[in-house]
Amino acid sequence: MILVVEDEASIAEVVTLYLRRAGFEATAVNRGADAVRALDESPPELLVLDLTLPDMEGLDLLRRLRGSPEPGAEDTPVIVLTARSGEADRIAGLEMGADDYVVKPFSPQELVSRVRAVLRRAGNGSSGRQENPIVANGLRIDPRTRIVEVDGEERALTAREFDLLWTLARNPRQVFNRDQLLELVWGFTDFIDPGTVTVHVRRIREKIERDPGAPRHIVTVWGVGYRFEP
Ligand code: CA
Repeated sequence: MILVVEDEASIAEVVTLYLRRAGFEATAVNRGADAVRALDESPPELLVLDLTLPDMEGLDLLRRLRGSPEPGAEDTPVIVLTARSGEADRIAGLEMGADDYVVKPFSPQELVSRVRAVLRRAGNGSSGRQENPIVANGLRIDPRTRIVEVDGEERALTAREFDLLWTLARNPRQVFNRDQLLELVWGFTDFIDPGTVTVHVRRIREKIERDPGAPRHIVTVWGVGYRFEP
C-alpha cells in the first residue's frame, strides 16, 4: 500500500488515481496526524509526502518516521512533494531521508515513474501488477508489448485507445466516468470534450468486441460511464 499524505484534495485524488491505475494500492490522508496513525497501524510500502500540511511540517513527519522504533519503518521509501523548489528544502528533505523529491506542479505520470523507480531501488517493485497481461474471454491485452489480441488475432489499437482499454481492463468492474478517464488517459486537459472518450470507446469496441453493437467487455453504465467486464 502506498500512503499519500497531501492536504490538497485535487492533488491527492489524482495521485491516488494514477497510482491505482498503475497497479498500486493507494490511500490518501490529508493531515499529518492521520498519517501518523496510518503509519502506526500498517506501515506502507512507500510514502508520498507533501511538505506543507495543515497540522504539521512534512519534514517533521519524515523525521519521526526515520526515528521510529517500528521495525522496517526507518526503511520505508519516501517521495516528498512540495511547492517549494528551493535548493535548501531539497537538501533538507534528502538529508532527512527522503528517497526522491517532486516539485509541484508535477505530472502524475512522472510521479508514478518515480514511485516505480524508488521501489525498484528499494528492491520492492513487485507490487506493480502492471506487467502482467490480462486475458478475458478470448481477449488478451499485453501491457509490455501493447499488443491486443482477440482469439489470437492481433488488433491494431492506437496508443490512446490502448491506454484507455488498459485503464478500464486493469480495474475490472470499476466504473469510471468520462472526466476520470480523460484525467487518467489524456492527462490534465481542460480543453478536451468528454465526448472524445465516447468516440474512443466506440472505436475500441469496433476492434475488440465480437458484436460492437452489444459490447461485452467495455460496458456502458448509463448515466455514469464505463466499466470493463472480464
Ligand atoms: Ca500542502
